[in-house]
Amino acid sequence: MSQRGVRLPFDLLGVPVWLDNSFLLVLPLFAYLIGSQITGYAVLLSQVGVPIDPSGLEQGYTPWLLGLAAALGLFASVLVHELGHAVTARLYGVRTREIRLWFLGGVAQFEEMPRGRGAEAVVAVVGPVTSFVIGFLLWWSLPLARDNDGVLLVLSYLAITNALLALFNLLPALPLDGGRVLRGLLELFLPHLTATRIAVGVSGAVAVLLGLYGFFAMNFLLVIMAFFIYNAGRAEGQAAVLHGAFEGKRVADIMTTDPITVDPGMPLEQFVRLASFRPHLGYPVLDAGGLLVGFARIADARAALEGATGEALATVEQVIGPAETIAPDADAFEALRRLAEGDLGRLMVVDGDGRLLGVVGKRDLLALLRDPSEPAAGEEAGLP
Ligand SMILES: [Zn+2]
Repeated sequence: MSQRGVRLPFDLLGVPVWLDNSFLLVLPLFAYLIGSQITGYAVLLSQVGVPIDPSGLEQGYTPWLLGLAAALGLFASVLVHELGHAVTARLYGVRTREIRLWFLGGVAQFEEMPRGRGAEAVVAVVGPVTSFVIGFLLWWSLPLARDNDGVLLVLSYLAITNALLALFNLLPALPLDGGRVLRGLLELFLPHLTATRIAVGVSGAVAVLLGLYGFFAMNFLLVIMAFFIYNAGRAEGQAAVLHGAFEGKRVADIMTTDPITVDPGMPLEQFVRLASFRPHLGYPVLDAGGLLVGFARIADARAALEGATGEALATVEQVIGPAETIAPDADAFEALRRLAEGDLGRLMVVDGDGRLLGVVGKRDLLALLRDPSEPAAGEEAGLP
């Protein structure tokens, strides 16, 4: 999240805690919403066995103070839930960079994903378990507050919302905890990419159902939440796929060796013809000694041919531009980043002497993303 907020002046269990700007905006709103429904809550709680007389809670500022206490308690509960994740992640040797409270709850940002069989599922499930425990402890402590209707209302409200929070987070939709548990369990007997793909599919379906439910129940916070889950789940799936596919891969592992190269003396007409059977933007140019001298773009060659009137001997030499190079031992992920930023479509892999070892293009990167558990993609299979 790009927008920052306010960092608490103290860390909790060694984890920095940030209050996002969206959280700071929504806290008074929550306090207001809860405060304006104090009577309703009192009636509701009386029906589930917590007898509260609302008449004493409706005077003056009381509803708003109770609303504020409940809203603060709600976010404190979310904070403890996130700390539950952070402490469990630490058991797996994973540091938590920060915990951030924002308007849809809390997020614990880990330095990396916990590794090991089932680790992600364990770290995820501890959050809802923490919420259930908080809810249970609060419910259990209610008799202590028997004499104060205000305290009783706030405590029982928090007990129930913690239980609901736990149930909601157990929905099998990434990036909710339930989605992580689902993926972690699938990973016990499926490859990582396949498990992620299934989890993302289930997440999408859950998000759509949630959104529809929120729409028909006129609960628009739920609709916003569903949108968030849908998008974040998808993004998380893509990130996981990328991360898994690129992990530990070097440029030398994925490059295409023996690419088509041209020499500076090649006539431009012949060079342009290359484009008619190969879909590349351009080609690496090598000198007689096999050293890379640059990159010639087909578009530049076409422009040069159109501009040249009667010059019969136009050659590639006239259109050589700089090549984007990368070292063979560079990270494959670095190649992806460079390709995304550059505009040549391919990176030239050169050794320390400037010798061309291969090229890395989109196709080489896409090949990495192919799930090894699946048969090769149909595009090739369909060719005679
Ligand atoms: Zn959680």
